[in-house]
Amino acid sequence: MYKELPDRMYMVFRHLNSEVEYIRADLHQAEVDALHAECDRLTAMMEPTSSCGWKQDQDGNWWTSCGKGFTFVDGGPVENGFKFCPYCGGEIWMGQEE
Ligand SMILES: [Zn+2]
Repeated sequence: MYKELPDRMYMVFRHLNSEVEYIRADLHQAEVDALHAECDRLTAMMEPTSSCGWKQDQDGNWWTSCGKGFTFVDGGPVENGFKFCPYCGGEIWMGQEE
């Protein structure tokens, strides 16, 4: 079918084809980049957590995601300078109510 096209037309077609391949390659690279980013994100989530979520109940007790309870005389982890859970060693983060 290409043979029936004038030479000039054939050249244009070839050019367009290569452009399409170029764009396709770009798109593919974007997809690869996106997949890499997603993999990194998921890997970060899957890695053994070195963090421990602390939640305060209505009585002022703190409950850790590693299954322990803790009561401060005054304030909470932040006010008392707690950075790491004394039970599991994970970095303390204040979990939101779920
Ligand atoms: Zn813990």
